[in-house]
Amino acid sequence: MTHSHPLSNGIIRNDRTMSDGRTIRYYDTQGQTRTAADQRPQEDQPGIGELRLDSLVNEWVAIAPHRQGRVFLPPKELCPLCPTVGDLLTEIPDSTYEVVVFDNRAPSLRAPGDGWELPDRLGPQTPNAPAAGKCEVVCFTSEHGNSFADLSEHQVRTVLEAWRDRTRELSQLDFIEQIFPFENRGEEVGVTLSHPHGQIYAYSFLPSRVERMLSAAQKYREDTGRVLFDDLVAREIKDEVRIIARNEHWIAFTPYAARYPFEIHVTPLVPVADMTELSPAACDAFASVALEVLKRLDAVFGIPMAYIAAWHQAPVRQGRDLLRLHWQITCIRRAPGKLKYLAGSESAMGAFIMDMKPEQSAQQLRDVVLGS
Ligand SMILES: [Zn+2]
Repeated sequence: MTHSHPLSNGIIRNDRTMSDGRTIRYYDTQGQTRTAADQRPQEDQPGIGELRLDSLVNEWVAIAPHRQGRVFLPPKELCPLCPTVGDLLTEIPDSTYEVVVFDNRAPSLRAPGDGWELPDRLGPQTPNAPAAGKCEVVCFTSEHGNSFADLSEHQVRTVLEAWRDRTRELSQLDFIEQIFPFENRGEEVGVTLSHPHGQIYAYSFLPSRVERMLSAAQKYREDTGRVLFDDLVAREIKDEVRIIARNEHWIAFTPYAARYPFEIHVTPLVPVADMTELSPAACDAFASVALEVLKRLDAVFGIPMAYIAAWHQAPVRQGRDLLRLHWQITCIRRAPGKLKYLAGSESAMGAFIMDMKPEQSAQQLRDVVLGS
């Protein structure tokens, strides 16, 4: 059975069920039909992990021991994210694809049973709870050797539509509070598969950074009546020195108090809570600024930059008028051959020490001469 969903920009999503019951979604722009069946033997899905409260800081930790056995940097010919060719059966049953999203085979978070509720936080008395949520894998392209920065603008638009579609659909699940699409690139940041892909974590609780951003934004609203993030962007536009790229709809800058040697925030000029609220024009204009930023990052030292690219969106059910969509790229490389490690102050105290001014890294990124 294939289910088709028309999305914007002529993109069609076709859903298929995999042999272990997971769903794979093909996002296509050429009117393809998707009928290839998953021919792998049926396999039991792993169980659900648990959420435990770290009551010292009142933060939830997901304990997912079943993830230990997952595939770690397999050779290219055994890549599970390439399309299926002949009898090399992968996660994608079809022999071609543009963009696919499927449920993670070893998810840290998964759909809970009926009646699931997040416990109240009561210090060490807090019970644990099944690790509710969803974890999905997003394959950006069928080309194994490429990276996000090598995608065409057309391909980036399709990836964005897939992220938007997942945000929209996952927001409808009653156990979901926060939807987080992200990409880790490079072995330095723990990538276990070299095929260009990202992930989506949909959490059943507010992650601690979101909780802190929300309380900062609430306080700012009470004090000033204004939206904190909008005022931060206004300052970046006024200061100009940290801006790296912009077009009619998006702006990219190194934030005023960057924590990493090369940290970039990319945000739409018309603020929105999440991707589903982007205008068609803003959707179309994302690719050019995204690709420019990533090309500048790769060119700054002439080597592919390892990064974490993280989508911040307003939570599903609260703070929708206080938190804004933005794409945060953090890179741990300071110089060729030098990585910034999260050492004592950052890891233990959460106090970041930066040995480089954000204005300097913005300048370095702007000075890159991009080929055509
Ligand atoms: Zn691959």
